[in-house]
Amino acid sequence: MSRKIVVIGSCNTDMVINMERLPLPGETLLGGKFFMNPGGKGANQAVAAARLGGKVTFIAKVGNDPFGIRSIDQYKAEGIGTKHVLIDKEQPSGVALILVDAYGENSIAVASGANAHLLPADIDHAQKTVEEGDILLMQLETPMETIEHAALMAKQAGRKVILNPAPAHPLPESLLRCLYMLIANETEAEYISGTQITDMDSVARAADIICNKGVENVVITLGAKGAFIKEKATYHQVPALKVKAVDATAAGDTFCGAVCVALAEGKGITEAVEFANRAAAITVTRMGAQSSLPYRREVEC
Ligand code: ADP
Repeated sequence: MSRKIVVIGSCNTDMVINMERLPLPGETLLGGKFFMNPGGKGANQAVAAARLGGKVTFIAKVGNDPFGIRSIDQYKAEGIGTKHVLIDKEQPSGVALILVDAYGENSIAVASGANAHLLPADIDHAQKTVEEGDILLMQLETPMETIEHAALMAKQAGRKVILNPAPAHPLPESLLRCLYMLIANETEAEYISGTQITDMDSVARAADIICNKGVENVVITLGAKGAFIKEKATYHQVPALKVKAVDATAAGDTFCGAVCVALAEGKGITEAVEFANRAAAITVTRMGAQSSLPYRREVEC
């Protein structure tokens, strides 16, 4: 069992200030509380997969600054292969500035920095790694041309390509045809299928439309309702675990990382989704993004 998972995606540092209310344009407000958290969907999913037992290599780009260097050190500490986390000499590391008010309302500005400069040529340098992974997992916070290039490379090598289409963005059919699996939440599935999701019939309809675009299997996550699977011609709903939800941040990222680990271990899709439901249910009971990602021992008990 090799369990090799290659994640290509974003690395950000989230800088969060909790305050009474959000400042108006031009206004300066004092009195906030500051936190710095590692983030970026690519990094969250790489860390999730590593904590759940995957042998993960992360392909990403950071800046030559303390945020980038610190991120690489953190990935190493998680046991993630960082040979292909590149350092861009000109671009800063990706950062998200997040303001959260007393009611949980937020205002977020993201500067993608080096993430936007992860190019197809960078994937060429990592070709052996991409071709040797059991599974390639990607999201949409890095350039589309790079995602397409990597998907084709892995597909041609006979590898399973999984895409989490977040944040929602138009997807070329050439990319969809490379996908072994698409894992989308309701909003993303609605966006890609052009169908409103209101009940289980419409979830199945959205999954059908996505499959008709060339995707082999579709998983639509449904928050507290669990997940819907379309595996080839069969449909299946897996209920979520009943937990006291505290913060849903990174639930989807945990889910994606977990599905990849289980599939890389040779499990079937339904079993992989059941495992992912258990892992993501733990994430929603804890605050934060990477800080809330569970370890394998927590999911199996
Ligand atoms: P995203 O975080 O991408 O918006 P979802 O909200 O659909 O995605 O959540 C992803 C997965 O996390 C769900 O399929 C489920 O397994 C788990 N999950 C999310 N919210 C809850 C909840 N309230 N209780 C239990 N599990 C949850």
